Amino acid sequence: TAALSIQNLQKTYENGFQALKDISFAVQPGDFFALLGPNGAGKSTIIGIICSLVRKTAGSVSIFGIDTDSNFPAAKRLLGVVPQEFNFSQFEKVSDILMTQGGFYGMPRKLAGERSEKYLKQLDLWDKRGTQARMLSGGMKRRLMIARALIHEPKLLILDEPTAGVDIELRRSMWRFLERINAQGTTIILTTHYLEEAESLCRNIAIIDKGIIVENTSIKSLLKTL
Ligand code: ADP
Ligand code: ADP
Repeated sequence: TAALSIQNLQKTYENGFQALKDISFAVQPGDFFALLGPNGAGKSTIIGIICSLVRKTAGSVSIFGIDTDSNFPAAKRLLGVVPQEFNFSQFEKVSDILMTQGGFYGMPRKLAGERSEKYLKQLDLWDKRGTQARMLSGGMKRRLMIARALIHEPKLLILDEPTAGVDIELRRSMWRFLERINAQGTTIILTTHYLEEAESLCRNIAIIDKGIIVENTSIKSLLKTL
């Protein structure tokens, strides 16, 4: 079974705008997959639908064979999402944000504490654990979002433009971190509008434009055609 399977997905927003026309693609377990496209192509809409924040108009989504319509709670346990906007409480402390997230997944506090320590250390945020989120830099907030999405150790991690607005040095260290998580077996999908990012990280790619998948291939064969 695919880590993610999207079939004939369509989305028309309430104002009548058709953001997704007929989207189908699959991502295999263990893959590092890029969804590449310009602003407005429909990438965030797809992610919103996968995590049930956006209602789809038609089509189906399944995560490791679990249809998100029929069993979203089970699918959600396998899924970690890093949205583009910072959506944690700015006045909460870093460690509390992670403990709260562990609570959403029903994790015992001890386990949530161990995982928090592990990911805060790996993401170089451990010395910020007692700091309120609002005091963090943009790059730190982004890494906090990644730690939060990993706390329940999802099998599929989806990141929406994870390095947007991040300087080149931090971008490279985030790339190394994601490569490590992928090497440990987590399937990763990221959206980006930088071909360079897709090229240096990912094995397979779908290119989306105006709500349509215009290419779906390996990075290797894509680079040959350029
Ligand atoms: P991307 O993530 O690739 O930049 P989005 O999925 O955010 O693209 O947006 C796809 C298209 O849908 C854009 O044209 C955007 O303006 C439009 N759109 C997004 N959200 C809404 C909404 N709530 N209502 C109407 N149109 C929307
Ligand atoms: P629920 O729909 O289960 O009540 P919420 O939408 O209230 O969950 O989300 C609770 C918190 O978890 C929010 O901070 C939200 O951004 C985050 N969240 C939701 N879904 C995911 C996910 N799949 N991966 C990571 N964080 C998520």
